[in-house]
Amino acid sequence: MDIINILPDSVANQIAAGEVVDRPAGAVKELLENAMDAGATQIDLVVKDAGRTLIQVIDNGSGMSDSDARLCFERHATSKIHRSDDLFAIHTMGFRGEALASIAAIAQVELRTRLHDSELGTEVRIEGSHIVSQQPTACPPGTSLSVKNLFFNVPARRNFLKKDAVELSHIEEMFKRIVLIHPNIGFLFSSNGKILYDLHPGTLLQRIAGVFGNNYKERLYEVEEKTDLVSINGFVGKPEHARRSRSEQYLFVNGRYIKHPALSAAVEKAYDEMLPEGSHPSYFIGLQVDPSRIDVNIHPTKTEVKFVDDHALFSILRSAVKKSLGVFTLSNQLSFDTPDEFNFGPAPEGYVPPTPTVRYNPNYNPFRATAPQHRMDFDKPDGQIGQKNQDILNAQNIHNIQGDLDLDVPEMSLAASGGCLQLQGRYIATAISSGLAIIDIRRAHERIIFDRLAASISENRTPNSQTLLFPVNCTFTAADAELFTELLPDLRGYGFEIEAAGQTTFVVTATPPDLADGQLQPLFDQILVDYKSSMLQKFSSRSQTLCAALARKMAVRPASEMSQEEMQQLVADLFACPLADTSPSGKKIITVVNPSELLKH
Ligand code: ADP
Ligand code: MG
Repeated sequence: MDIINILPDSVANQIAAGEVVDRPAGAVKELLENAMDAGATQIDLVVKDAGRTLIQVIDNGSGMSDSDARLCFERHATSKIHRSDDLFAIHTMGFRGEALASIAAIAQVELRTRLHDSELGTEVRIEGSHIVSQQPTACPPGTSLSVKNLFFNVPARRNFLKKDAVELSHIEEMFKRIVLIHPNIGFLFSSNGKILYDLHPGTLLQRIAGVFGNNYKERLYEVEEKTDLVSINGFVGKPEHARRSRSEQYLFVNGRYIKHPALSAAVEKAYDEMLPEGSHPSYFIGLQVDPSRIDVNIHPTKTEVKFVDDHALFSILRSAVKKSLGVFTLSNQLSFDTPDEFNFGPAPEGYVPPTPTVRYNPNYNPFRATAPQHRMDFDKPDGQIGQKNQDILNAQNIHNIQGDLDLDVPEMSLAASGGCLQLQGRYIATAISSGLAIIDIRRAHERIIFDRLAASISENRTPNSQTLLFPVNCTFTAADAELFTELLPDLRGYGFEIEAAGQTTFVVTATPPDLADGQLQPLFDQILVDYKSSMLQKFSSRSQTLCAALARKMAVRPASEMSQEEMQQLVADLFACPLADTSPSGKKIITVVNPSELLKH
């Protein structure tokens, strides 16, 4: 009995769709790429409900003829490859002729398109691979493609979609990857009727500023290098603006966003010792390489690339970045062409600045505890550390401690009254029974603040708050401003007083006590980056993310020598934390050097 069937096209297309369009952002990518391939100079992206109900891309590109408008939905229909040779010299974005067929298999698609020299355009409706109608229509030259009810006939995929905020972040990320490498094309992106990005054609630097904010113009150094093998163009972030995550690292090859761990490492290597541990530079770098030296077709979504000349590229890229960091660090000046100069803008309408008041404690010291109930009392006459601390230290299994952690109390108190030693400004050394504990001051501080913030939230306490002498304005991109609005209730819970003042500007009038006002914008920027990446990676709760970002910014390295009292307080506060040995960002806080190790050798 014969058992082999040929799959009907509609089924084959649905299967292919799984590869090309796994979520709304996948469809967005394909449609934007098609619009660019059609030579558009202005592209509008409209989404509703994070692309679930509608993804529409409108371009002013070439448009299609009546029959192409129907043909483009056929599998392997493409105007971009005629011979197999073309595969190797391809410069356009798409080249598999699969995207539209796939999308039409899993959505209700409406195409309106008109060639520039035609009087009339044509409208095609197609639903689950079946053409529903085609008729002439009056429309502007170019193409408008609407994808409605994505996955309407693939419930498994539809149910698999994440919350709107998550899907929208994926779309936004995809959008950035495309617009950053096409600064010469205008893009407009709106979501549920709200404009998130309105990007005018311009230079790469203007585009970066349009996407990430005007302050990026001062945060970047230009990179430029030309060799036989590759030309490199772009911008790298100044070391002091490095971030905790790799979320602002954009590498493009021949106009396409790629992921390439080795080349990314080359950029980071160029920074050598300039970056604090665990920080990553922002960069926006484009490489131009002879297409025959790369194989872009190794991955269906084409973000992975293989180069013939991996090693050479690595060195060229590293030294190009090094050069610009070196050059610009020396000259420390960079004259950007900044046609649209800083935008201070008038005070928002109706905004009455509050009368400044200052509440400040002249004796305030960040290294002194404010949560006495957690304090470990070194001076207890009976020298007892609470059982809680003992358990905690035992449970933590602090690195390097041999055998049972027998933190015997007299020795601990001795250590405390006999004193702590500050090493190289950033560590405290103190004796515990199992050896010498070396504590990273900043990380310890971060842990203590994190626990304090988390406790105040979980116990619903009224947060500590200090009114700023001068209110601080913070500004975001439209998309970030939306997210920031979502976070406002949480931030208020930590002692911030913030009000929206216009579409993308917020006025901060009070903050938790340990924050300097100059830190606010970078803090919020960081919180947004963390928040977005935690949404993408779907881990951790929102309050955890916020606490961690706040603690990171509020924790400081001591500016001057710490007094004995301050050091002891810090050690005590640290040991009162349930996770005393790791900072909220996962860094080790304490190392114990055990003297008996010496005798072993
Ligand atoms: P590919 O882009 O790989 O060729 P697609 O399925 O994405 O495959 O598109 C099929 C064809 O439809 C393209 O080759 C192009 O000729 C045509 N097409 C798609 N989108 C547009 C557009 N926005 N403007 C003009 N032509 C388009
Ligand atoms: Mg395509």
